[in-house]
Amino acid sequence: MPLTRWLAEYAWLPDHAEPTPEVLIEVEDGRITAVAPLVGGGTPTAGVEVLRDATRLPGLTLPGLANAHSHAFHRALRGRTQGGRGDFWSWRDVMYDVAARLDPDSYLALARAAYAEMALAGITCVGEFHYLHHGPDGTPYADPNAMGAALIEAAAHAGIRLTLLDTCYLTATVDGAPLVGAQRRFGDGDALRWAERVSAIAPGNDHARVGAAIHSVRAVPAEQLATVAGWADRNGVPLHVHLSEQPAENDACRAVHGCTPTRLLADHGVLGPHTTAVHATHPTSADLALLGESRTGICLCPTTERDLADGIGPARRMAEAGSPLSLGSDSHAVIDLFEDARAVELDERLRTRRRGHFTPADLCAAATVAGHAALGWGDAGRLAVGDRADLVTVRLDSARTAGVPPVGAFHAATAADVRHVVVDGRTVVADGRHLTVDVPTELRDAIEAVTNR
Ligand SMILES: [Zn+2]
Repeated sequence: MPLTRWLAEYAWLPDHAEPTPEVLIEVEDGRITAVAPLVGGGTPTAGVEVLRDATRLPGLTLPGLANAHSHAFHRALRGRTQGGRGDFWSWRDVMYDVAARLDPDSYLALARAAYAEMALAGITCVGEFHYLHHGPDGTPYADPNAMGAALIEAAAHAGIRLTLLDTCYLTATVDGAPLVGAQRRFGDGDALRWAERVSAIAPGNDHARVGAAIHSVRAVPAEQLATVAGWADRNGVPLHVHLSEQPAENDACRAVHGCTPTRLLADHGVLGPHTTAVHATHPTSADLALLGESRTGICLCPTTERDLADGIGPARRMAEAGSPLSLGSDSHAVIDLFEDARAVELDERLRTRRRGHFTPADLCAAATVAGHAALGWGDAGRLAVGDRADLVTVRLDSARTAGVPPVGAFHAATAADVRHVVVDGRTVVADGRHLTVDVPTELRDAIEAVTNR
């Protein structure tokens, strides 16, 4: 790709408390090759002729947003479960109905549309926590990774990067009950066979990478946790795990193993700087210390956690203990990382009745560089020389953002304010439109195909 130049009206540069005005960003071969503030302390490197051929980006340009926790097919449930009563467990029954209907073709169509919605929301990389591995009765497809391949292809069509967090899911309960009904298609039998299947995935394209996931302490027996963790470690890939989303998971773990889920994971070598615990909504103080001291990341999914009546995770205490925080839209009740980011701060306010737990720069880092790191893309999420050229430009002239200072974007903007998205140097969204996917039409059609309308 030839050299392109962008002139951002404002850009949020790494480790800056607030955005910088008038920043020239040069991109070549999908990488950022220069970042030059034109005013206020920066040394202008650009001549007049350089500025003349730069494309202006009005508004605030951010690094790419990373959605560190996704189940693409849950997008089909939006608006179908929110109106009723119940809890996480009754929601899960509805989710299993959709899971039972998907095949590689319908999964591709649904994921492509969901990932394209993410692109419109400024998400340049997604971590797909993927456990729909086999046919509905548990029989593998001719290609046992056909469903994962559909996700990799979907991300390519949508123009975003993907970390396929291939998930080991073996049992239905902490005490080892077998998978039944819709769960049968999640299982590989044991962790060794999971590892054998995952080892055969070759993304064959640099937009996608493979990582590992342990569904939860419910779904992987204690004696097999180390097999999954060892596979991730040997392959140098991220490892994700759902953790303490529900008090019932903690209670069951204590009853069977005599310890919390976090303690169990720690004792079997699952925690560490390449591991991300998803949710961690109900940790003990000792759990927070184990997570923080091991530098285990925590992915918060506030818009899903509130939708499923999970509770509020102790985000400030997690950060103070040493865990980097990232964000995920998880069940896709909404896909809007601005909303998830500000919820991290606003939920703490509700809990403590005090304001100011996280700065706007903290929220920006959670939505960008921390999420990319959690997904194994250490060279993305910053507007910095050498990083992947992901540029996400947010309007500051919409009804929501007009009059808002750029530093206030994470408290005012929504996904609908994302105007321009560049992923690895390629424009994917221009003037609020996805360049290759008719997102509303494809979402409608893909969801109608797998639901009762
Ligand atoms: Zn999840």
